[in-house]
Amino acid sequence: MSQGDPGLSLALSPLLKPLRFATRAGVSRLTGLEALVAKVVEQARAYASEASAARLERLAQSVRGFDELSEADRQTAIAALVRELGALLPIPLEISALARSVSGGSGKLPTMPVPAAAPKAPPDPLSTPVIQLRGVGPAIAEKLEAKGLRTVGDLLLNLPRKYEDRRTPRTVAEAPIGERSVIAGRILKAREARGRRRRLEVLVRDAAGGTLVCIWFHYRPSLLERFRPSAQVLVSGEVREGYRGGGKVMHHPDVELLGADGDPAAPRDDDSFGRVVPVYTDVEGLPQRTFRRIEKRAVDEYVGFVDDVLPAPVRRRRRLLALPDALREAHFPEKFAAELARGAPGGEPRRRLAFEELFLVQLGLALRRRGVKVEPGIAFRGLPDAVDRIVSALPWALTGAQQRALSDIAGDMRKPEPMNRLLQGDVGSGKTAVALCAARIAVEDGYQAALMAPTEILAEQHARSLRMLLRGAPVHVELVSGSLPQREREHAGRLLRSGAAQIVVGTHALAEEATGFHKLGLAIIDEQHRFGVMTRRSLMSKGHRPDVLVMTATPIPRTLALTLYGDLDVSVLDELPPGRTPIATRVYRDSAREKAYDVVRRELKAGRQTYVVLPLVEESEKLVDLKAATQERDRLAMDVFPGVSIGLVHGRQSAVERNEEMERFRRGETKILVATTVIEVGVDVPNATVMLIEHAERFGLSQLHQLRGRVGRGAAKSHCLLLTGTSGAEWGPAARERLQVMEETTDGFRIAEVDLMLRGPGEYLGTKQSGMPDFAVAELARDQTILKEAREEAFALVEEDPEMRSPENAAVREQLLHRWRGRLSLARVG
Ligand code: ADP
Ligand code: MG
Repeated sequence: MSQGDPGLSLALSPLLKPLRFATRAGVSRLTGLEALVAKVVEQARAYASEASAARLERLAQSVRGFDELSEADRQTAIAALVRELGALLPIPLEISALARSVSGGSGKLPTMPVPAAAPKAPPDPLSTPVIQLRGVGPAIAEKLEAKGLRTVGDLLLNLPRKYEDRRTPRTVAEAPIGERSVIAGRILKAREARGRRRRLEVLVRDAAGGTLVCIWFHYRPSLLERFRPSAQVLVSGEVREGYRGGGKVMHHPDVELLGADGDPAAPRDDDSFGRVVPVYTDVEGLPQRTFRRIEKRAVDEYVGFVDDVLPAPVRRRRRLLALPDALREAHFPEKFAAELARGAPGGEPRRRLAFEELFLVQLGLALRRRGVKVEPGIAFRGLPDAVDRIVSALPWALTGAQQRALSDIAGDMRKPEPMNRLLQGDVGSGKTAVALCAARIAVEDGYQAALMAPTEILAEQHARSLRMLLRGAPVHVELVSGSLPQREREHAGRLLRSGAAQIVVGTHALAEEATGFHKLGLAIIDEQHRFGVMTRRSLMSKGHRPDVLVMTATPIPRTLALTLYGDLDVSVLDELPPGRTPIATRVYRDSAREKAYDVVRRELKAGRQTYVVLPLVEESEKLVDLKAATQERDRLAMDVFPGVSIGLVHGRQSAVERNEEMERFRRGETKILVATTVIEVGVDVPNATVMLIEHAERFGLSQLHQLRGRVGRGAAKSHCLLLTGTSGAEWGPAARERLQVMEETTDGFRIAEVDLMLRGPGEYLGTKQSGMPDFAVAELARDQTILKEAREEAFALVEEDPEMRSPENAAVREQLLHRWRGRLSLARVG
C-alpha cells in the first residue's frame, strides 16, 4: 500500500474536508460529493502508481449518484470511500470511523472508535499530522513543525503562556495605557498614510465618543478594503499613547469585524473574542489569532481521544479533572474562565496536567526505589591502591568531606551499574578535586572522562585547575569550547576520537553531534541545572551507559532535595578546605554608601581587588542593563575611585570579550571589576577580597551567598558589602531582616532554608530553568503541593500494587512502559 506518497496525499486531501463535515453533521447533508470526487481523482491520477490507479477508480465509483441515495446507502458509500481513501493516504481517525459506522445510524463519530484499517496497531489519533487539520496547509504546517508541533497531540500539549480577558469590552477612556484591552466601536475612517513609514490607520469611535487609532505597519493591501466606514468592530491589543500626545493608539490589534448594522457580517470569531482567550508562545510567521484558531480545531476535534491514565481512585481522592476536560479548559476556559481571566496559567486545569506529569515521574522513582532492575553499566576497577595514589598526588590532603564523597563515588564506579550521583558542595568546598579523582579512576581503566561546564569561562577555569592539580602527571586534559578556531577544534576533535585526550573539559560543545569520544566512561556535569535535558542526555549518549556525576553549588534544602532528586544518590561536601579566611559581611543603607567605599579603598591600598555586582535584569532589558553598567563604571572611575583601573563585564559582550576582561582582572591589570552578569560561579581570583553588591535586596539569599563565595579564596581577610537601594517599595523591614541572615551566617544550607522559608520555593529556585527535570506543564518551583500529593499517591500505589497488575492501574502502567520511557530515564539524571 502506498500510504506515503506525498504528491498523491496532497492531491487527495481536498476530500478530507467534506468527510470531516460528515463526521459532525452526518451524511445526509453532504451534497455535490460525486463531482468533487471525480475532480480530485482526475487530478490525482498524475501521481498514482499502477496499484493506486486501480484504487482511484474504485474511489470514483464509490460515490456514484451520491446525491440520489438514501441515507443508509449514503453511509455505505461513504464507508467505501473512506476505506479506499485510507489505503492511499493517512487519514484522521475521526474520519476513518466513518468506514465503520455503516450500521450505526447517524453516521456521526462514535465516542471511542475501534480502529478499522489496521487492527494490530491502532493508530493513535493524537499522532495525526497537523496538516490534516482544517486550515492548515503545507506552509503553515512547516511553520508549526519548526516549533516542534508536528502532531495534533503536540498542539494539545502546547499550553497557553497566559490568558487575556476579552469578555467585556472597555471604552477607549477606560483602557489603561500599557495594558491590553478589548474595545468595541465603529469605524470612522480607514486610510493608508505615507509618512516616513507606510502604514494603515483605522480610526475607531466607541459608544462613549472616545476615539482610538489602530495602526498596521505590515499588512496586505486588501486589509484596507475590509475596513468599511461605519462598520462595527472589536479590536484587541495593547493601548499605547499616540504620537505628539494625540490620544490612544493600538499597533497591530486583533480585529473582529461585525457588520455595518452591528450584526456579525462574518461568523463570530468565538476563539478570539467574547471569552477568556489563550495567548500562546509565538510561532514565527503565524499571527496569534490564526494559531489560536488552529489550536481550537485541535482541541475541538481531538481532545476526546485523549486517554485518561490516572487511576480513578487517585483522581477521586485528589479531586482532579478528567484529562480531556483539563486540556479543553486549559486552552479555552469556560468553567474556569473567571479563574484564568487573571492572566497567569493556573487553576484546576493546570493542576490536573501538572499532577499527571509529576505522578508519572514519581511513579518511576517509586518503582526504582523498590529495586526494579537497573541496566548494566561499566564496572571500573577503582583499586584502593590506585585511588590512594591518585589522592596523594594532589597538592594537599583531602578534607574529611572530600574523602567521604570520593569513597562514595569510587564505590559507585566499581558497581556494574551506571552511577547516578549528585555531589553537592558550597562554593569553594573543593568539588573540582573530587571530580578529578573520579576522572582519574576512569582513566586508569582506559576510559575517557568528560567534564561539562555551563560557560566558556568556567570550562577554562576547570581545565586550568585540573592541570594545576595534576602537577605534571601524565594525563592529557583537553579543552573543547565553541570559541576555539576551527583548526584547533578539529585537532581537539581528533584527540577525543582517538582517545588521546583522556580528560575532556568543555561547554555544551561536548554534547554536540560533531563531538565524538573514543571510550567515554564518566560524564561529570557541573551546575547541571544550567543545561537542558537534551544536552545532558546527548552527552551521556556519547558513551555506553557512562557513570554520571552531577555537581552543584546550589545548596538545596533537604525538604526539597528529597522530592527533586528522589532517586539520585547524594554526597555533600559540608566542610571547607583549611586555610580559608572568614568573610566579614555587612549591610549598608544607601546613605552609608561612603562607609562601604572606605572598605574598598583600604583593600585597594593593600593591593587587593574588588568586585562590584549590579543586579541582574531581565533578558529583554539588556540594553538598559548595559547602559546602567557603563554609567556605574564611569561614575566609580570619576567620582569614587579616581585613578583606579576598572573593568566591566556585561551580558552584551561576546564570550571572547568577556573572557579577555576577566583575564585582565585575574592578572591584576584591573583592580575593580564591575559586573552585571553574576560573576560566573567558580571563578577563582584569590587576590580579590571585596565583593560589593548593589541593590542587594533584589537578589535571593542563595544568590548572594554564591556571590560572596567569589571572595575569601586567598589568605587575606575578605569582605562582602551589601548595599541596599533607596526606593522604599523594595526596601522594607522584611528585606532588612532577610539580608541580616547574610551577616549572621556563612552556612549555605542555613541560608537556603531561610530563603526557602521567606520566599517560597518559586523564588528560591528562581525562574523556569531551575535545574530540575524538564516538564511540559509542571513547574517544580511552584508546584510543591502538587508534587507532594503526586508523590504520596505514586508511592502508595507502588506499595499496594508493586507489579501494577490491577486493572485500574493498567492504563498508567502502559503509559509508563511506552510513552514515558524516554522521559523517565531523563529524570534519572536530575
Ligand atoms: P568548588 O568547585 O567546590 O567551588 P574548588 O574545587 O574550586 O571548589 O576548590 C576551591 C579552592 O580550594 C581551590 O583553590 C582548590 O585548589 C582548593 N582546595 C580544594 N580542596 C582542598 C583541600 N583539601 N585542601 C586545600 N585546598 C583545597
Ligand atoms: Mg568549582
